[in-house]
Amino acid sequence: MSTSALARTSRWVSRSKTLLHFQTKLILTSFSTDTGTADKDNDPGRPGPPPIRVLLTESAGRGVFATRRIGAGELIHTAKPVVVHPSLSKTHSVCYFCLRNLKTTCQSQTEAVQFCNEECEEQSKAFYDIEKRAKWSAYDDYCRAQALKYPLLVKRLACMVISGFAAADSLDILQPATLSPLMISEMVEELGLLRSSFTKANITDEQIAFLTKTWYTSVLARIRINAFRVELAGESYQDLLALAAASVDAEAGVGNAVYMLPSFYNHDCDPNAHILWIQNAEARLKALRDVEEGEELRICYIDASMGHDARQTLLSKGFGFQCNCLRCLSRD
Ligand SMILES: [Zn+2]
Ligand SMILES: [Zn+2]
Repeated sequence: MSTSALARTSRWVSRSKTLLHFQTKLILTSFSTDTGTADKDNDPGRPGPPPIRVLLTESAGRGVFATRRIGAGELIHTAKPVVVHPSLSKTHSVCYFCLRNLKTTCQSQTEAVQFCNEECEEQSKAFYDIEKRAKWSAYDDYCRAQALKYPLLVKRLACMVISGFAAADSLDILQPATLSPLMISEMVEELGLLRSSFTKANITDEQIAFLTKTWYTSVLARIRINAFRVELAGESYQDLLALAAASVDAEAGVGNAVYMLPSFYNHDCDPNAHILWIQNAEARLKALRDVEEGEELRICYIDASMGHDARQTLLSKGFGFQCNCLRCLSRD
């Protein structure tokens, strides 16, 4: 590499670091509030900011690092989703806002959705007042037929943008997946269905001016590699153990969600942290073993019980990288 190329690289890195520092501060500030309220019951006296910071890594972009020693089993932080949507098969059996299992399933066949409490109903106004004005059967049927789950998250984000609750560029900070021309042409079809649902509901062109091909594909490219499938563990410890040990089939998920900070965790096939959900879509990041100060915290994006070749294929196809973790290097 020539000297000038090196200089360009280092300038880029330093500019990114400054930006990153700013973004990280924003995220940590906004979400330390979450930690304060959500974990009061379980972790009395827990100090505000979580013991982590987001830094640039040498090879894997951003990463999350421990700012102090973290003990095995410790709750590192919680995170509320930026966008969340139930699986189509669970729409009538979980809260439409937080994905908590409902005690009473609504009389199926009806279009109505339910919320687990008034707070969720109140918070859902951010998208639901707009969403319920439109008919979604064509869009939902398309997703069902193609087994697509992520367009539902885009639909919800679009409703949040229209209602002024979210900015159109809310997800721009996340890493996007690389899209093939085929993927883009499929997305254009979805976008047409989405736009026509809004238009038929008398949502004005001005209100959906942000809903362009560029916006749709860029949001979906980010959702593709940053969304988590939410699998509720329930309160029982046995459930937690079972969940950690078993490979969970697709139907086990109650929905999908995108988070900010949890998206910055890099992958490891032998992770030192994991993400889990107890009763709803609020994510909990926990240490799986003792982590030293300065060590990178990593989670496993896939089912860790798979063999080496299957993991490599899935990570490469699904997330676009070749895993070079210690476990993969030893071909375990
Ligand atoms: Zn709820
Ligand atoms: Zn690996």
